[in-house]
Amino acid sequence: MGMKTYVVGNWKLNFNVGESSIYLHKLQKSLPNYRDVEVVVAPSMLALQPLSLQIDRHKMKLAAQNAFYRDYGAFTGETSFAQLRGIVDYCIIGHSERRHIFGEDDKMVGKKVEAALRNKITPILCIGETESERSFGETADVVRDQLLSGLRDVAEEEIDKVLIAYEPVWAISTTGHSKLASPDEVAEVVKLIRKTLSELYGEKVAEATSVLFGGSVNPSNAGAYLTVPGVNGLLMGGSSLILSEFADIIDIAKRVKS
Ligand code: PEP
Repeated sequence: MGMKTYVVGNWKLNFNVGESSIYLHKLQKSLPNYRDVEVVVAPSMLALQPLSLQIDRHKMKLAAQNAFYRDYGAFTGETSFAQLRGIVDYCIIGHSERRHIFGEDDKMVGKKVEAALRNKITPILCIGETESERSFGETADVVRDQLLSGLRDVAEEEIDKVLIAYEPVWAISTTGHSKLASPDEVAEVVKLIRKTLSELYGEKVAEATSVLFGGSVNPSNAGAYLTVPGVNGLLMGGSSLILSEFADIIDIAKRVKS
C-alpha cells in the first residue's frame, strides 16, 4: 500500500462542545471508510475528551491543537501530552499562531515534539516563513532552522511517526494579508524540506516522511496542492469549519490520490 493522504482540519478557537459533537456526528455519517485517506480534526481542548467517546476511529481521528511538554506539575492553564494520551492520535505543534501570538520558540517546539512521541501521539510539526522573511530571501533558512530544531530529539526510528506541515504564514487565511501560495512555490519548499530530512535521516526516510501543505486550502485549490510533487496531504483552518467544504476536500483527496 502507498503512503496515506492526510486531510487535517484545525478548528482553532471555534465551536463549543455541542457544536463540535454535531459536526462530528454529521461528518462521520456522510464519510465512507477511506483506508488511504486519513481524516483528522482538531477541536478545542475542551471538546477532545467527549469527542473521543463519540468518534469512529475507523473513519477519522482526533488531534489536539497544542499541548505542553511537561507531563505534570505547576504549569497553570496547561494540558500535557500525558493527559491527552489515549484521547487523541495527533497533535498540531508549532502552528504559526502559537509561534507568533503566544511566543513559542523553536526550542519549545522541539520539546513538544519529543513529548508527543514519548506519549504515543503523532506530532504534526508546522513550519513556514512569514511574508517579510520571504521578501528578504530567508525562506530556505527559516524553514530549515525550524525543521532542525523541531526534530532535534527525534531519532531515526521515530521519524516515521512525525508529520511535517509546510504552512507559509503569509498564505494562512486569518493573517489578514494572505495570498495564495502557487503550487510551484509549495513544490520548491517541500523539496527543501525533503533535502533537509535526507541530510538528517537519509534519502529513503526522507521520501517516506509525510509532508502536508496548509494555507487557504479550499475545494477549488485542494486538487492542485495535492498534486504538487512530495505533498502527502492538507492542513486547513477556514475550510474545515464548513462541513460541506471539508467533506468535498476529503473527496478530492480520495480522487486525486487514487
Ligand atoms: C492554518 O491555520 O493552519 C490554516 C492553514 O488556515 P487556513 O486554511 O484558514 O489558511
